[in-house]
Amino acid sequence: MRCIQCGRTYDPHPRLLLCPMCQGLLEVEVEPYEYPSWSKWALRSPGVWRYLELLPLPRGVEPVSLGEGWTPLTRITNIGDLHGVNVYAKNEGVNPTGSFKDRGMTVAVTVAKASGAHAVIVASTGNTASSAAAYAAKASMRAIIVVPRGKIALGKLAQSILYGAVIVEIEGSFDQALEAVLEAVRQDPRLYPLNSFNPWRLEGQKTIAFEIVEQLGGVPDWVVVPVGNAGNISAIWKGFLELKRYGLINKLPRMVGVQARGASPLASAWRRGLSEPVFFDHPETVATAIRIGRPINWPKAMRAVRESKGLFIDVDDDEILSAQRLLARHEGLAVEPASAASLAGLLKLRKDRIIEKGEKAVIVLTGHGLKDPDSMMAAGATRLIARNPGEAVRIVTSLLTR
Ligand SMILES: *Cc1c(COP(=O)(O)O)cnc(C)c1O
Ligand SMILES: [Zn+2]
Repeated sequence: MRCIQCGRTYDPHPRLLLCPMCQGLLEVEVEPYEYPSWSKWALRSPGVWRYLELLPLPRGVEPVSLGEGWTPLTRITNIGDLHGVNVYAKNEGVNPTGSFKDRGMTVAVTVAKASGAHAVIVASTGNTASSAAAYAAKASMRAIIVVPRGKIALGKLAQSILYGAVIVEIEGSFDQALEAVLEAVRQDPRLYPLNSFNPWRLEGQKTIAFEIVEQLGGVPDWVVVPVGNAGNISAIWKGFLELKRYGLINKLPRMVGVQARGASPLASAWRRGLSEPVFFDHPETVATAIRIGRPINWPKAMRAVRESKGLFIDVDDDEILSAQRLLARHEGLAVEPASAASLAGLLKLRKDRIIEKGEKAVIVLTGHGLKDPDSMMAAGATRLIARNPGEAVRIVTSLLTR
């Protein structure tokens, strides 16, 4: 494990989550016991654990898995405003709990269980909680989730309830929930934290990059990712770097981090040419999964975007909701608002001619639409009321001639 701030290296330990010397973020570096290769991977069943050589699996340990990963990469065919950009959507909503968080959880919960932990804890805007709750259940561990009261989407709360997590709702924002979790873990080391400063989680999430290359048969020009705590964009970039290091690809994509305008610490900094985020004390957006004012992984994400010659941008809530409807109504893809931010960002980059005709872009659709039924209900549809079956027949038969 290496500290990205002071560069010190440490022997791997499940409990080593921040640098003991400087409190910087740590990065896991997996030394493959065998050389990774596409042909070897292709022989294994698809999913996160297919990429075993580049994953940190403790010796003799069976992964805690629910069959995560190998999500569909579908071509966007019906959205006209893209004007000749080849766009593919990585549909992370079809993971076991409905978001990409499962890729990280399978690895981190496996590591936690192997270390003898009995309880996991997370602060969450919703999806980390659902995912942690499910994987903890599979691992026979307790899950404690700390969420901002009234600020998490209904589907996510419902999942956590069903999976049997203990739910602590705090009056405050996600950032305050995370502070509480950090302090709780300091006071009671029996709690194992699963937030995305936990570098083991990012190891699972980097497989998004591996799958994109495998499914596309090459490296796209752009990868567009919604950014909240900024772990995922960092993880995906790390995945591409590792493929390059082992000679499995020979070029790299440009990474785009999309934030909601009301919660855009990184995009605001980027626009002003600053190298550190402009923290938001009161983040606000319909895209609750990225409603984060102090992204903990910002140093990794800044590095990913800078190294890849990419950029951070922001989109407003109307653009997000309109992109959500476009994906659903033209492509049959139901995603939660945070995920639609990637399409909204892509449309903006296309309009500004930053992405050019003929280029290939992948948008990462991070979570399923069912997560947030309120946003689905607000999409608006033609809904007609018939007082009896005869009236229903008259209404229905008149519809197509109107
Ligand atoms: C967690 C999440 C994000 C943000 O990912 P970060 O790693 O926090 O940047 C985006 N969309 C959805 C649906 C999420 O659950
Ligand atoms: Zn350090």
